[in-house]
Amino acid sequence: MTTYNAPVEEMMFLFNNLKDNKNYNEIEKFKEINSDLVKDILDQAAKINQEIVHPLAKIGDENPCIYENGIVRSPPGYKEAYTKFINDGWTSLSCDPKYGGQGMPKTVSTFFEEMLSSASLSFKLYSELSIGAYNCILHHADEKIKNKFLPKIVEGKWSGTMCLTESQCGTDLGLIKTKATKQEDGSFLLTGQKIFITSGDHDLTENIIHLVLAKIPGGPSGTKGISLFLVPKFNVNDDSTIGSRNGVNTLSIESKMGIKGSPTCVLNFDNAKGFLIGEENKGLSSMFTMMNLERIIVGIQGLGIAETAYQNSLAYAKERKQGKSNNNKDNQTDFIIKHADIRRSLLNMKSIIEGQRSLAFWLSQQVDVSLNHPEKKIRESADELVSLMTPVIKSFFTDMGTEITNEAIQVFGGYGYTKDQGIEQLYRDNRITPIYEGTNSVQAIDLVFRKVLNNKILSKFIKLIKDEIKDDNNKIELKRFSKILEQNLFLLLEFTKWLEDKNKNNKDDVSSACNDFLKVLGYISLGYSWFKTTKISLEKIKENKEFYEEKINTAKYFFDKIFPRIESHYQSAKSGSYSIMNAKFN
Ligand SMILES: Cc1cc2nc3c(=O)[nH]c(=O)nc-3n(C[C@H](O)[C@H](O)[C@H](O)COP(=O)(O)OP(=O)(O)OC[C@H]3O[C@@H](n4cnc5c(N)ncnc54)[C@H](O)[C@@H]3O)c2cc1C
Repeated sequence: MTTYNAPVEEMMFLFNNLKDNKNYNEIEKFKEINSDLVKDILDQAAKINQEIVHPLAKIGDENPCIYENGIVRSPPGYKEAYTKFINDGWTSLSCDPKYGGQGMPKTVSTFFEEMLSSASLSFKLYSELSIGAYNCILHHADEKIKNKFLPKIVEGKWSGTMCLTESQCGTDLGLIKTKATKQEDGSFLLTGQKIFITSGDHDLTENIIHLVLAKIPGGPSGTKGISLFLVPKFNVNDDSTIGSRNGVNTLSIESKMGIKGSPTCVLNFDNAKGFLIGEENKGLSSMFTMMNLERIIVGIQGLGIAETAYQNSLAYAKERKQGKSNNNKDNQTDFIIKHADIRRSLLNMKSIIEGQRSLAFWLSQQVDVSLNHPEKKIRESADELVSLMTPVIKSFFTDMGTEITNEAIQVFGGYGYTKDQGIEQLYRDNRITPIYEGTNSVQAIDLVFRKVLNNKILSKFIKLIKDEIKDDNNKIELKRFSKILEQNLFLLLEFTKWLEDKNKNNKDDVSSACNDFLKVLGYISLGYSWFKTTKISLEKIKENKEFYEEKINTAKYFFDKIFPRIESHYQSAKSGSYSIMNAKFN
């Protein structure tokens, strides 16, 4: 079984040193959230994740959810852990105090999301969609629905789902067939089938609140005719007590490669009573409130699982003896951590993970500003950065999660491939993250066509990086980093220009380059994060020499060994799409 120790020191380093956003500091309600409070929350979060949640990862993998006589049962121990989880208030961490929440900023809740992903993704998924449902209802439902449903969701007594996918429609939501017919009292009756619904049914909560995309007959075709509905598993009385069973039933649950402790359900809606959320035919944009925040959280899942993979690889490399390293003096067998290639693997993981954590922290600040800053202009400006970086965090972090969990298997050798050590489970559990919440390729297409081409958001982000570099041009130790960052920024700009040119006459060239572009922007963003970390580390090195020297060394690894990937992605993209589009695949 794997072990997990929450990286509280790393998180506090970010909170104490990289809260660099002036706008964030202007948010009145977050002014009292100081370092002591955050450390206290993270210590408590570490405790529950290490002691209660992490052991459930293996239990859920070996005892997957069961579907019996129309009922879905969670793995052993999940119910008790979930009860403690909600009693300790973890589902309410970032929610509005008006509905019983604790009002913590994203900067804090993102750390918690990471810990929970590291501890057990399957367990996390029971409450994760509830936060998505909470956000969607909060932003788009009327007061009556908010008051009726939100307090129970915040408390964790009811959970949420997100019902988009149908057998004929995954990426292309315009193909949705589920139908919603309006009733005289203003409610709707929904009929249709949804598949692959995470936490669609289970025994951890009293009620399940489904947010369902469906079409109202007579509406526009395609995505323009989609509306969003709230459909409870049990109908809810006006005083928020539970009433009769609604027409939603579980037909089956999936047998899967990973996250076996999380039920993935086929749901049948048979004249199920639902309530419109937002306007008719505008459901997709309401659902995007849920999906966009959820996409960032899925990125964090990749980061969290990668952290567990790294911690266990490091521990194993310190206890496994094989061969003799180049500097072996006593002719005894060495621990494998002495071998240069194992050290390279470990630094690969470490430099990517720490860079990602820092980037996620920066993005969390932007999310907080976009939702809470008193000035509209500043909120909108932060929102643009969030919109640019959402597909990057979702895809880049989860792809890196795949790379890192794969690399962890390699560090463990044969013991990584067999089940005892739990390493192969990390790979399997992570493997869904590049697929759900919009596949990574589709995220890359969204990034390039909607957010980069004909849009100025990227130049805004590049300006932030340039300002950061300019700020330190005179510091000699930083020069080696700023030079590499600048050179690669130049490649990013060239790549962007190439996309703009190709978009005028060869869209296949652009489409086949999207994944490469997303990776390039991902590596640059991590470079931006590492640059800020290096700057702080150089300033503070005397305070904690060992900690900051290690940071600077890891930054060197990132700039020397990871940044060259940018050039190869650019070269590959620039070769165009001729061979791709001419393949006959006979
Ligand atoms: C474990 C699990 C949990 C899930 N949880 C939920 C949930 O809670 N709620 C929910 O609604 N759904 C859920 N899903 C569904 C998930 O979101 C979809 O599987 C995903 O969006 C992809 O859809 P699809 O499987 O139909 O693949 P498809 O859309 O058929 O895609 C197949 C391939 O084609 C590519 N592709 C598709 N369109 C394009 C395009 N325009 N350009 C280029 N490439 C394209 C994709 O990238 C992919 O590689 C879950 C799925 C799983 C397996």
